Amino acid sequence: MIIAANWKMNPTLDVAGGLALALTARHFAPVTRLLFAPHPYLVPMSVRLGGSDVRLGGQDCHQDTVGAHTGDVSAAMLRDCGASVVLLGHSERRADHGESSALVAAKAAQALAHDLDVVICLGESLDERRTGRAEQIVIDQLHASLPKEFPEGRVMIAYEPVWAIGTGEVASVTDIAAMHAAITSELPKSKNGHMPPPILYGGSVNAENAASIFSVDHVGGALVGGASLDAAAFDSICDSARLQMLKSG
Ligand code: PEP
Repeated sequence: MIIAANWKMNPTLDVAGGLALALTARHFAPVTRLLFAPHPYLVPMSVRLGGSDVRLGGQDCHQDTVGAHTGDVSAAMLRDCGASVVLLGHSERRADHGESSALVAAKAAQALAHDLDVVICLGESLDERRTGRAEQIVIDQLHASLPKEFPEGRVMIAYEPVWAIGTGEVASVTDIAAMHAAITSELPKSKNGHMPPPILYGGSVNAENAASIFSVDHVGGALVGGASLDAAAFDSICDSARLQMLKSG
């Protein structure tokens, strides 16, 4: 299981430092923890995380290698700042910056070429769910957001219903199971015996609901926004993931 903290544009440097320190205080192996920190905090967080098992990531990167793109950051810059993974196509970037799935695929190709693993986010709007189009929308996003070719073991998917992000509303376990099964069936089969890309669930995951979400088939972890800003809540989510891994052997 992979549990990813997405701090978004939230913590001050002081708060971020405290949260990073808390991440290093406990271990949840075999759970993998990722931290998507704001770009200006990557270097200080990489110092704080030191030799810990928490992987540091950026919240976006540009699709070009280098160039006149004021305010953007390249995949190589993220690498230089200590990141080994990048979050791409989050619904907030799709909404705030008009990012298309084709752009997400180009960013993913760029990140992979610079040795960053990628988490690609997908998710339907409330209207798309209410009108019965959720599955088709997400599958179309999946195919359009994945680069044409990608190395096995380097890509993760996050299914995040847009209406569940930051709202306190969580998709039902039935809906999560159906969507994760649909995504799994569309992912390329491994040619080299790798595990298929893990599919994280995201959308108001917290200490109370994590265990039931992790018990759903094809849920490979969680992308956590709000609850990742509370060290105790995030630890509890990681603990639920660890227990689920032990239970399922
Ligand atoms: C997210 O940041 O992707 C997210 C799912 O946020 P929250 O957990 O706050 O809903």
